[in-house]
Amino acid sequence: MKAQKLLTATSSKFVKIRCPKCKNEQIMFGKSSTVVSCLVCGRKLAEPTGGKSRVKARVLEVLE
Ligand SMILES: [Zn+2]
Repeated sequence: MKAQKLLTATSSKFVKIRCPKCKNEQIMFGKSSTVVSCLVCGRKLAEPTGGKSRVKARVLEVLE
């Protein structure tokens, strides 16, 4: 297994996501250890799962 694959799996990047409810776009940390809520409507967009975020919104872009 290559190191680069591991880095991708840990997802320590910022991602741009879009709220499925109100279409608000915001940036979140891909490895956030807290629940990420939409800044506009408060919908839960991501939750922590063992050091990595499970995103419940559409990921528009991954920022390096
Ligand atoms: Zn929203």
